[in-house]
Amino acid sequence: MSGKYDAIIIGGGHNGLVTAAYLGRAGKRVLVLERRPIVGGACVTEEIFPGFRVSTAAYVNSLFRKEIVRDLRLAEHGFAMLERNPSSFTPLPDGRHLLLGPDPALNHQQISKFSRRDADNYPRYEAMLQRVADVIEPTLIEPPIDLRRPGLAGLWRALKLAWRFRRLGTRMAEAVDILTGAARPILDRWFESEELKATLATDAVIGAMAAPSTPGTAYVLFHHVMGETNGKRGVWGYVKGGMGSLTQALAAAARGFGVEIRVETPAQRILVERGAVAGVQLADGKIEMAP
Ligand SMILES: Cc1cc2nc3c(=O)[nH]c(=O)nc-3n(C[C@H](O)[C@H](O)[C@H](O)COP(=O)(O)OP(=O)(O)OC[C@H]3O[C@@H](n4cnc5c(N)ncnc54)[C@H](O)[C@@H]3O)c2cc1C
Repeated sequence: MSGKYDAIIIGGGHNGLVTAAYLGRAGKRVLVLERRPIVGGACVTEEIFPGFRVSTAAYVNSLFRKEIVRDLRLAEHGFAMLERNPSSFTPLPDGRHLLLGPDPALNHQQISKFSRRDADNYPRYEAMLQRVADVIEPTLIEPPIDLRRPGLAGLWRALKLAWRFRRLGTRMAEAVDILTGAARPILDRWFESEELKATLATDAVIGAMAAPSTPGTAYVLFHHVMGETNGKRGVWGYVKGGMGSLTQALAAAARGFGVEIRVETPAQRILVERGAVAGVQLADGKIEMAP
């Protein structure tokens, strides 16, 4: 087996599988090493009680890029999204509740229970986030610009980004605030209802180990509007069959491109020779890269 692979990917989470599938599609000889008995990492569906299969870590999706779904033909491998509607339910100690979702009329009616002003402001707030998303979103699928050696292509992309920012005009300060600041002052500026602000702030702190007043959380909040479900921007959804269906579809697509996936195979060490990766050490031997 030694010397057979152009790329060895350690970890069969969704990022490893996407990388493997694209490399396989490009004709590279690829091996994925996964230490667990199943691929998927934090995107898995597992039977935790007899007869009940659930997403055991990540559970909702919208940020997985539609370009990847298309390129890797994931629908042909069973990937499908179910829209989340309503998207959030906030029960309150006094018996009231706030329900939010993709339906503007429902949102207006629900938020009005707490503040008529906030209900009127909510679509404007969403439009503001969308304006900034229009500028940032295209960069998500572009390779990062090498600032030390941008080359002509890098300079061209930087110019295009600057041009998109320029189109924001007087709203550019708002965009900078979102990209660098904390969520709390932004929510405080737009809304007065604590119930609404607390609900919206969950998107700012989820997975971030930070408070809504921590700089950077506005970006986390904003990042949540950049995804889509079934062509609907900003809408989140459930993967049919749980998150594991996404990574199983990725694994099937990767195998279709000739990628080899080995589970229960932890990598112990990356072998380096003369400053370059030469292979990977396993418990029972080593795998070498192609020369
Ligand atoms: C509790 C939780 C909830 C989340 N909820 C959401 C959500 O709802 N929506 C969302 O979009 N994102 C969510 N996320 C974030 C998202 O799940 C992660 O960003 C994503 O799974 C990261 O994918 P990854 O492939 O980079 O890494 P991982 O999914 O962590 O995969 C890494 C893989 O590498 C394997 N591995 C590690 N070391 C070795 C080794 N030495 N040898 C072989 N294999 C190895 C691991 O077993 C694992 O399978 C959540 C994350 C967590 C933890």
